[in-house]
Amino acid sequence: MNAEWGQLSAGIHDCTACPELVATRSTVVVGETSSAARLVLVGEAPGAQEDAAGRPFVGRAGQLLDELLTGVGLSRDEVAVLNVLKCRPPGNRPPRPAETANCRPWLERQLELVVPPVTVALGLSATRWFLGRTSTLTAVRGRTHSLLGRVVIPTYHPSAALRFGPNGAPLAALRADLGFAAGLARDG
Ligand code: URA
Repeated sequence: MNAEWGQLSAGIHDCTACPELVATRSTVVVGETSSAARLVLVGEAPGAQEDAAGRPFVGRAGQLLDELLTGVGLSRDEVAVLNVLKCRPPGNRPPRPAETANCRPWLERQLELVVPPVTVALGLSATRWFLGRTSTLTAVRGRTHSLLGRVVIPTYHPSAALRFGPNGAPLAALRADLGFAAGLARDG
């Protein structure tokens, strides 16, 4: 990406705002984008594999995401992949409100630099980051939301799709929502 993205990424790498996360992280997972990006995906936080690799969504949830993206005609190179938190919470616990607040300016700035407006919020943490802390997926899923100059599409996290299995509602909803988002990204 461009120099501004590089500078921002360097700042994120050096962040020490959350002492517990700084003490337990192996890497800082800044997120990824490319000049070919047509769609933005926002997840929750790195897991163990992402923390080891320094890249977002490379574990089981990431593999499912890649399969679903392929199914809707998009490759990884055509999506920007960002997270609410850039450091792994120990034991994969949910992000704490203070951590989300500390990390918020990083994601805000990333979203200013990443061009495509169509944005999929994967799971409750990302959905609440955009829509507020009391949102529920049931209440906000199934329609688009205009926020921060973006079209935000809240949906299930791939981990929920894995947890509920191949016949569960989260997988069907995630697949449908990614298909809708891909269509919007293509057609404007
Ligand atoms: N789950 C997320 O929310 N983000 C990742 O990068 C990996 C798993």
